[in-house]
Amino acid sequence: MVPESGGIVPRIMTRGRDGLSHAAAPAYTRGMSCLFCRIVSGEIPAKKVFEDDDVVAFEDINPQAPLHVLVVPRAHVATLNDLGDGHDRLVGVMVRRAAAIAAERGVAARGYRTVFNCNGDAGQTVFHIHLHVLGGRALAWPPG
Ligand code: AMP
Ligand code: ZN
Repeated sequence: MVPESGGIVPRIMTRGRDGLSHAAAPAYTRGMSCLFCRIVSGEIPAKKVFEDDDVVAFEDINPQAPLHVLVVPRAHVATLNDLGDGHDRLVGVMVRRAAAIAAERGVAARGYRTVFNCNGDAGQTVFHIHLHVLGGRALAWPPG
C-alpha cells in the first residue's frame, strides 16, 4: 500500500508546550483520503468488533496471526509523533480496549502483542494511528 502522507502532504507546524515544532495532522485528510477515517465513518466496510465514542476496532484485512485486530481512534491523528498532551486519555482508552479484546478472544493469559508502527522504518502504511492487537500463536522476538 502506498503511504497516504508522510512527506508528500504539506504539514501545518504547531508549537507544543515543549517549545518544539510538531507536525499537525492535515485536517483535509479527515473523511477524504484517509483510509481509516473512511472506515470509522462507515464509508468503507470493515469487520468491526467494537466501537464507542472514542475508538473503532476491526479485523485487519491481512491478518498476521489468528487474532489481528486494529484499534483506531475516531479522531484523525497521523502518527505517534503527532500526539499531544490532549491525547493522553485517548491513548489509554486504545490500550485498555486492546487488552479487553485480547481477553474476549481468550488470549490474555497466553499472551499477545500490541504494536504502534510509526513512520517508514517501522513500516507504517496507514497514516492514522492504530494499535495492532496480535495473538493466538507464539510471536517471534525481536521483530524483523
Ligand atoms: P501499519 O503497517 O502499521 O500502518 O498497519 C496498517 C494495517 O492496516 C496493515 O496491517 C493492513 O493489513 C491493514 N489494513 C489496510 N487496509 C485495511 C482495510 N481496508 N481494512 C482492514 N485493515 C486494513
Ligand atoms: Zn484518518
